[in-house]
Amino acid sequence: VSAQNIPTREPLQIEQDIFRDIKHDFPILGDVIYLDNAATSCSPEPVVQALVEFEHQYRSNVGRGVHRLTRIATQRYWHAHEKVSKFIGGTAGITVFTKNTTEAINMVAYGLSWSPGDRIVTTILEHHSNFLPWKALEKLGVIVEVIGITPDFMLDMEAFRNALVTPVKLVAITHASNVLGTLLPVEEIADICRKCGTLLLVDGAQGAPHIPVDVAKIGCDFYCFSGHKMLGPTGTGVLWMRDPILKPMMMGGGMVESVTEKDITVLEGYEQYEAGTPNISGGIALGIAIDYLRKIGMEKIHDHESTLTTHLISILKTLDRITVFAPPLPENRIGVVSFTVEGMHPHEMAQQLDEHDILVRSGLHCCHPLMYALGLPNGTVRVSLGIYTTIDDIDLFIATLKEIIAK
Ligand code: PLP
Repeated sequence: VSAQNIPTREPLQIEQDIFRDIKHDFPILGDVIYLDNAATSCSPEPVVQALVEFEHQYRSNVGRGVHRLTRIATQRYWHAHEKVSKFIGGTAGITVFTKNTTEAINMVAYGLSWSPGDRIVTTILEHHSNFLPWKALEKLGVIVEVIGITPDFMLDMEAFRNALVTPVKLVAITHASNVLGTLLPVEEIADICRKCGTLLLVDGAQGAPHIPVDVAKIGCDFYCFSGHKMLGPTGTGVLWMRDPILKPMMMGGGMVESVTEKDITVLEGYEQYEAGTPNISGGIALGIAIDYLRKIGMEKIHDHESTLTTHLISILKTLDRITVFAPPLPENRIGVVSFTVEGMHPHEMAQQLDEHDILVRSGLHCCHPLMYALGLPNGTVRVSLGIYTTIDDIDLFIATLKEIIAK
């Protein structure tokens, strides 16, 4: 990358000590500039160590038996739930570990009772994981309504309010778009839902990793997210619910108090929703990822990512052949930025960036309805930031992008 392509920096207040050194905790980042955090994040050493420690020191099952290893595993697995509940302000509800956001949302779709004519309101911004589980209910006679966006990539709140004039059983919305970075006004939406007696599910896959979340303050009924997108191991996710109103999606060991041939008494608490042996080490290591995030502080993380995002968007917008798809105001977006390059397929750009050790996502981002609505059948190139992204990463990305475009 030639020196003239390195952009001039505005004075940025982001070189806080904590973010300058953070990369050392992520060995994988020694080789690449990882800008695909919306897909999954990297894990820091303490998280990796927690996985190893489980295997080396106390591998055993949880909630079964009384021997010394199972006592340690059970206590740590339970404690991880406590950490996650606290992290999202959800200690008054039930925090269930799942394998990802998709499973959490499906548990809600399966666990509620549906009747023909029940209405669900969702949005065009949704990831397939918060769209297909609702579409699947149409076979039961459930009606799914999709709210669109405004020309500045925000949710059309007028259409949303109008949709709730007639009774709606459930609103299912994303906290933040994994394509446009748009942050949705979840508290305002929760307020409207509460007044209408409508349940609210928030898909927090792109919320929990990047902004402080307080489910009590939001006022939602369900909050779903992926541990693997917030420094936790793959195969970890969370379903938080205010009240245990769902029918368990799975039945089996570990979720019952007692069973006779005639009667089943299901356990209270998260256990009733976690039948079978769970991802024990993953759950415990997710707790360690939460410790890591808390130590830095979600406010700080949000400010850091927001400053970098503004820097990135402002430069991208000055480049020839580039079209950026992002809400104009920083307070309405997270560190996910989509763009297209005139005359170049998004995959081609991602491939060329990869040759320069810069990893971004390209394509339709599991959001086909949104992409078709935007007239982008090939999708976009997506840059998504993480807590370890630095101004140098962004500047090198921009410089490399310029060089590729100029070729
Ligand atoms: N919802 C949103 C907004 C996402 O960005 C994603 C993943 O990218 C998901 C849901 C699905 O997450 P998972 O694959 O962890 O289930």
